Amino acid sequence: MVDAAFPDAAAFWKKARAFEKLAEQGTKRKKGFATYAPEVLPSDKKGNPAFPQVWRADARVRRAIAGMSYGFCAYCQSPVSSTHPGTKGEDRPPGQVEHFRPKARFPVQAYAWDNYFLACMGCNGAKHDKWPAGGYVRPDEGNPGSRFVFTEDGAMKGRKGDDQAERTVKDLQLNRPWLSYHRGRTIQTHLVFVRRMIAHSEMPIENLLVEPPAAFSEAINQNVRRAWVSGRRKKKPSRVQPRRAR
Ligand SMILES: [Zn+2]
Repeated sequence: MVDAAFPDAAAFWKKARAFEKLAEQGTKRKKGFATYAPEVLPSDKKGNPAFPQVWRADARVRRAIAGMSYGFCAYCQSPVSSTHPGTKGEDRPPGQVEHFRPKARFPVQAYAWDNYFLACMGCNGAKHDKWPAGGYVRPDEGNPGSRFVFTEDGAMKGRKGDDQAERTVKDLQLNRPWLSYHRGRTIQTHLVFVRRMIAHSEMPIENLLVEPPAAFSEAINQNVRRAWVSGRRKKKPSRVQPRRAR
């Protein structure tokens, strides 16, 4: 499927492998693969050498990628599917297919399954072909959400000392104005309900957390946990109502 999209697939893979042997942060590598070996790439509509977008053309690929993050951007947890007309049905899921390791710098991984994530235009556009030394936080590795701190106003930052997380926030512009606005509003709306529950009931914390996948679930849950801890601290023992026996 991939090989058929190239004029000479063997030549592409050979050049791609040679390119990835160059220094990762060297000038040649930073200029991108299309500059290094334009002759092995087919031309796009404008006549420029470009990677054939097999990930767009194949419905199975697009469906699976959208399914991986349930229509949410893998980086900022925005619901990208809600802003999409959706008229093409499930074969044309919303959002953009994002190459975690940019194909311009890692051409061998341009068609590697585990290099694809569903992303919103904001994150994909900001990240573009950037790849600093050490790269970024992978959305599907370990517990990526725990490497960031989300505050009630919608702002976020990498945990202290976690350079990779801090770079991810900065380069993907995860504090861009409208994103942090919506994240903050979502957290605050949820906290109004949560604080009421903490003040007037003995509901366990598990019942107050948002079940992922949901928009901004990590940001919400961090704030719920903080509100819960501070609510318990403030609560005087005399005010705590014992659970009624049924
Ligand atoms: Zn995003």
